This record gives sequence, C-alpha cells and structure tokens, in this order.
Amino acid sequence: SFSAEAVPQAPEDPLFGLMAAYRADSDDNKVDLGIGAYRDNNAQPWVLPVVKKADEILRNDPALNHEYLPIAGLATFTSAAAKLILGADSPALAEKRTCSLQTISGTGAVHLGALFLSKFYPGKPTIYFSNPTWANHNQIFSNVHLPIATYPYFSKETKGLDFEGMKQAIADAPEQSIILLHACAHNPTGVDPTQSQWKEIATLMKQKSHFPFFDCAYQGFASGDLVKDIWAVRYFVEQGFELCVAQSFAKNFGLYGERAGCFHFVTGSGTDSQATIGRIASQLAILQRSEISNPPAYGARIAGLIMNDEALFAEWEENLRTMSGRIISMRTALRSKLEELGTPGTWNHITDQIGMFSFTGLSEKQVLKLRGVAHVYMTKNGRISMAGLNTGNVEYFAKAVDKVVR
Ligand code: PMP
Repeated sequence: SFSAEAVPQAPEDPLFGLMAAYRADSDDNKVDLGIGAYRDNNAQPWVLPVVKKADEILRNDPALNHEYLPIAGLATFTSAAAKLILGADSPALAEKRTCSLQTISGTGAVHLGALFLSKFYPGKPTIYFSNPTWANHNQIFSNVHLPIATYPYFSKETKGLDFEGMKQAIADAPEQSIILLHACAHNPTGVDPTQSQWKEIATLMKQKSHFPFFDCAYQGFASGDLVKDIWAVRYFVEQGFELCVAQSFAKNFGLYGERAGCFHFVTGSGTDSQATIGRIASQLAILQRSEISNPPAYGARIAGLIMNDEALFAEWEENLRTMSGRIISMRTALRSKLEELGTPGTWNHITDQIGMFSFTGLSEKQVLKLRGVAHVYMTKNGRISMAGLNTGNVEYFAKAVDKVVR
C-alpha cells in the first residue's frame, strides 16, 4: 500500500541549485557561468528590442483577450515556427506532410515527442543520446519508459567531436533505434558536426533505418544565422527521413519564462502521407489535451507576431546577431587572455566551439576550487555559459582559471 512517509528525498536539480548558491554569494566579483540564459555586457538579462516592440503592439491591441488557445496552439505561430525549421519553400510543407503543435517551450516539445513515440513506436525502441547531453533528456525519456543509451560524442583529447565513436555506436545500435540529435549549438559541449559529418551520419542512419529526433533549442544562436543553424534538419528532411523536431524559442527570442515552443512531425513523401500526418496530428492532439489541455498564449503571440512580419523579422535577425556576436567576441577574448597568461594546456577549443556553451575541459575539482576561491559558478562538468562573460569579468575569470590550472 502507498505510504507517504516512504517517499525518498530527491536530489536537488544541480543547475537550479547552482543558481541559488550564486544568488546567495555576496562577493562583488562573483561570476555566473551556470545557466544558459543570455546576458548583456553588464551581466543583465536582455529583453530583445524587437520583443519589446511586439509586446507594446500586443498590449495596445484592444482585441487582446485571455481566451484558451486551440489544443494545437496558435496557428499563426505554429505555421511560422514550421517555416523557420523547414524553410518557407520546403516540399514537405507544400505537400502537407508535416504537423506542428505548440508546446511548453522546448522541454514540453521533447516530452510530447517522447510520449508519442513511447505509445506508437513499435517494440519499445532504445533512444540514444550523445554523451554528454542536456541532463533533462534522461529524465524526460525515462518518465515515458523508453529504454535509454548513449553514443560517444565528446573527445576529451581534442575537446571536439568523437566522430568515429559516434558513428560506431550509431552503426552498432539495433535497427530502428531512435537517435536524438542536437540541431545546432550542442548543449553542453558547444561541439557540432560539420556538414560533411552530418551527411555521413544521415547515410548511416538511413542504412540502419534509425529514427531522427532533433532537439533544436538554439537556432540563430550558434552562427547568428537562422538558416545556417538549421542546415542539418533540412538536410535530413531532403533525404526523405521521417523525423520529429522539438523547437524552443526560449533562447533565440529571450522568451525563457514565457514557454514558447513547438513540436513538429514530418512524414516521408508517400502517396498517403497527408492521411498519415492527419492521423498522427489527431493522436498528438489527444496526448496534448490530457497533458496540458492547451498551451500558454502570450509568448507564442509575441514570437508569432515577429515571425509573420517582414520588418520585425529582420529586426529579430539583427538582435540575434547582437547576441551571437557578443558571445563569439567573448570566446575570442577568453582564449587570448588564457594564451597571454600562458595558462597550461591548449585553448583553441574555446573559439572552435559554438553557441551558448563551452566545455572547458576543467575537472570537477578545478570547478569547485574556482567556486570556493574566485566565486565563479559553473556546472561540475566544466561547462561555462559564454553569455555570463563580459568585458568587465573575462580577465578576472581567465586569471582565476589560470590559477587553478597551474
Ligand atoms: N534542449 C536543449 C538541448 C536545451 O539546452 C534546452 C534549454 N536548456 C531545452 C531543450 C529546452 O529548454 P526550454 O524548455 O526552456 O525551451
């Protein structure tokens, strides 16, 4: 029988625990390199100017109300979200073999996809994640009882991609496994396959009839270019894969707490693909209804307004370049400070890696020392959120790293 008393204590979420420790630290020099949220050069949250503009427009709209959205979400938002992933001229869209449901940001999209696959993918397939991956992947797929496994991804030696290890694991996985792939700006490593490596991955996955599950949380954040960053997903769709995509707008719109996201399913181009996608959409709607009934409106309204207006879209692209540009300049600054200091080791990986994060190669011991001695907060795996660095603290951080590495 159920005993409330027997429920064990769960561990604290490491990332949110780290945030709390940072907030409690009263040192003037403290540096927050923990959570993946963009900060401006003054270490402050940044509301994108284009988001401010859209917010103004919405607030002043006398027709704005707080009614429920449809189960699948705001249609003007989900259709623009699909175009952003697949391209406005995508044959998959023209042939109407895609469906899109608005979700509780990227987390909700990963969950909806996981739930759908656990119910409809025959034979309880194993889902393979990169090692390492976003910590939440484990929990989300375990919650729906899909068996999980990992493929090698990060090479400790090169601090780049372990491509041979990755390919071997994909080749060795049982046929029709689900392979989770980060569309761009891999979290936590900042290491992405090159286009020619993606092509090899696609070929291998085709041979083994694996199912690609793309997690896309950083489109526009890696290179600053929305189209360039989504290249891999579009390539897989062109190759005729059936696949799904979990899309987050938390980072690229700075809409973290508004929970704007989308789940997309794309079928192959068979004769009955429209009927197939209709049935898939109907099942996704049932799952959505039982889980959240319908998604939250405001963030989707903001993102939808911007994506559907040419001038606002162009301004968004400019804002994206501001964020990605500042991060790239911090990569350059950190690497050159470390090289100036003659810090033991090589530091090219800081500028080779891309997106929000860098996997520094610092050990857990060094990370804890940095926290204790220098009030620098980063996750134990040595990951830093590049957006936490700015012209005011990058030298302080480099000197602190230099000290613990020696
Ligand atoms: N996937 C990855 C790889 C992520 O890094 C994140 C954000 N940390 C997400 C999904 C989802 O985040 P959110 O639910 O805030 O959109």
